[in-house]
Amino acid sequence: MKDYLDQYRIFVQVELIPLESLLLNHQYDELESKISALRTQVKEMGLWAPYLPKEHGGMGMHFLEFAAVSEILGASPLGHYTFNCQAPDIGNMELLTIFGSDTQKENYLKPLMGGEIRSCIGMVEPDRPGSNPTWLDTTAVLDGDEWVINGRKWFTSCVDGASFCIVMAVTNPEVENRYKRASMIIVPTNTPGFEIVRNIPIMGEKGQGFFSHGEVQYTDVRVSKENIIQNPGDGFRLAQERLGPGRIHHCMRWIGICERAFDLMCQRAVDREVNPGATLADQPTIRSWIAESRAEIDSSRMLALACAKKIDKKGASAARTEISIIKFHLAKVLMNVLDRAIQVHGALGITDDIPLSFWYRHERGSRIYDGPDEVHKLAAAKQILKKYGA
Ligand SMILES: Cc1cc2nc3c(=O)[nH]c(=O)nc-3n(C[C@H](O)[C@H](O)[C@H](O)COP(=O)(O)OP(=O)(O)OC[C@H]3O[C@@H](n4cnc5c(N)ncnc54)[C@H](O)[C@@H]3O)c2cc1C
Repeated sequence: MKDYLDQYRIFVQVELIPLESLLLNHQYDELESKISALRTQVKEMGLWAPYLPKEHGGMGMHFLEFAAVSEILGASPLGHYTFNCQAPDIGNMELLTIFGSDTQKENYLKPLMGGEIRSCIGMVEPDRPGSNPTWLDTTAVLDGDEWVINGRKWFTSCVDGASFCIVMAVTNPEVENRYKRASMIIVPTNTPGFEIVRNIPIMGEKGQGFFSHGEVQYTDVRVSKENIIQNPGDGFRLAQERLGPGRIHHCMRWIGICERAFDLMCQRAVDREVNPGATLADQPTIRSWIAESRAEIDSSRMLALACAKKIDKKGASAARTEISIIKFHLAKVLMNVLDRAIQVHGALGITDDIPLSFWYRHERGSRIYDGPDEVHKLAAAKQILKKYGA
């Protein structure tokens, strides 16, 4: 295991960090072609898709092992994609591995695992609250052997260049239980009626390819009835299965970001003279930020690993409270550490010469995506209070 971890660490340092300037300067086409060559190299090195079962071409790591790898890859914004374990593909692969039909596995999972295609997931809609995933306008109506899908989604991450989207649509509006009205349906993005309206500009960046968030219109989109994952009405249950482990994947990636930001902060503090002979590292405020950041990162890692261990042992639904707690807590730690690291760098911190400002913009969403902080706090407190009779 240690050998593997060193290999990942060295690869990130030697191959990926030097390419980050292409991302920071929005040279997406050149970046994609360079990363594509590196992905081939990663496969040859046997480091591809670490969490996937061996029989599907991965390394067969369990959740806790993958958590350690995810932290290392998180040190670069290019890490997870290069090793084919980036969101949303990782969640879709996990979902299809467990719940996909044989045909779905052959047509969609296999090329996704091979890194030949990319995918996305379309749940959230502009006119409905994403925090309440049981309330959707998008519908899928069975017409003969086909689902006919109509609606509008947004924040479909990575839709630009994706080959298929797993769409959440209401198939059973008559059912009283609101958790059983929607379904997940696979839609190839070249299906007539599937239209990417725009890549949504976020914090000044339009994004492209695997760094895009799209708004998508579905107008009479017809797909085979075989494209439904599991049964009509299973969408919410599948979303929960998909999102639980996904949140921990994000958390371990965020710890990787925190560690890189921490390194940059400490190095800058030591190197930057504020007076002849006196550096930023001599200032009590800066020392306090360094100590606070260290404590926050280390304690968060312990929470995240404890949660990963529980998922390995008892499954994601048994770890719901832990998942909620680490999700909102670590998102806050991430923003704290990035903010301090930027502050220590002064003006340099908000330039695109180093990745801190990219992460500060890009990861502000961490407190919102996969459930906003407030929703996770409510969910965790609800579970905790049950033990007290609430
Ligand atoms: C970077 C990014 C990537 C994303 N990628 C995807 C994707 O690939 N696919 C996809 O389908 N979606 C994606 N999303 C959408 C994401 O899941 C939603 O933004 C999220 O679920 C919140 O929904 P909303 O934005 O509609 O906010 P709303 O539901 O409108 O909530 C707004 C705010 O209200 C507060 N709030 C909401 N409910 C409660 C409550 N019960 N109690 C207290 N406060 C509350 C919270 O502060 C919340 O931030 C992405 C979002 C971001 C930012």
